[in-house]
Amino acid sequence: MGFLSRWPQAPVKSSSRKSLPPKFLPPCPYCGKPLDPAPKRQRKCKACGKNANVLRSSNRRARIVTERAFDAHWRRERDKEWAALQEQAAQATGQGDLQSARMAY
Ligand SMILES: [Zn+2]
Repeated sequence: MGFLSRWPQAPVKSSSRKSLPPKFLPPCPYCGKPLDPAPKRQRKCKACGKNANVLRSSNRRARIVTERAFDAHWRRERDKEWAALQEQAAQATGQGDLQSARMAY
């Protein structure tokens, strides 16, 4: 019975499979199920069939949001831009003495 004294089978196979890092899958903003594969811009959720959108903010972090949140975000951004443009225009027309101020230099 010499063979019983040998080492038990080394668990090489199972441990090598376990060592794979778990893939991070962002959850669907509607139903919370993981989106597989992770969306890059927009993906239809397999579980609920709704569109998940990827929103990249200025700090480059991507968020998965609902279509409504996505639209709202870009509407806000557009409003901000528009407000800035209007402010610029108001300054340009309001400060008629801009040229004279430049002449003073
Ligand atoms: Zn879903």
